[in-house]
Amino acid sequence: MNKHMRQKNLKPNAQNSILSYFTHWLEDSSERLYKKPILFDERKGRLCFRFEDTAPELIFTLCDNGNATVDVIYQNHFWDIVAEFDVMENKTGSGKYYCHGCKEKKLYSSRKHLFQEHVFEPLLDWVNANLNSSNWLCVFKAGGAAWASIVDERDVPAAYLQEDFVTALPIIVNLTQ
Ligand SMILES: [Zn+2]
Repeated sequence: MNKHMRQKNLKPNAQNSILSYFTHWLEDSSERLYKKPILFDERKGRLCFRFEDTAPELIFTLCDNGNATVDVIYQNHFWDIVAEFDVMENKTGSGKYYCHGCKEKKLYSSRKHLFQEHVFEPLLDWVNANLNSSNWLCVFKAGGAAWASIVDERDVPAAYLQEDFVTALPIIVNLTQ
């Protein structure tokens, strides 16, 4: 199935779902977003995306409860969170939306705008800053702890020398597509 058909299948039924907001935002923002999220798993209130041409270990999870993270799943194990956009959704008496996890209480006229400004736009900035061919995903493990970080290719040799280093994976794959 080609990518564009997959994107079309994203069309939601529920008008007020997070998926609906995200899908519409994606349509409007596709030109600004260097690597598109591709939906591969959808469960009740939880959507999982990989990014086109990007290491499949990087997974963006968007939940109806406001959790939004980019996780590293390496060899079928959760390894780390490399980006976090969680929104703690709340509503004022006058019907405005805000995040009660933020120090500065910024009000939005709709739930859609709250998610757009708190999750989707910061995700876009993260994608455009991190998902490029000069970056590598380094994974580490020590005892029971596992972690991961995105590092510039110039810093990979230093990461490799660390005792806890497991592997380094190129961020961009399938450049020919
Ligand atoms: Zn917040």
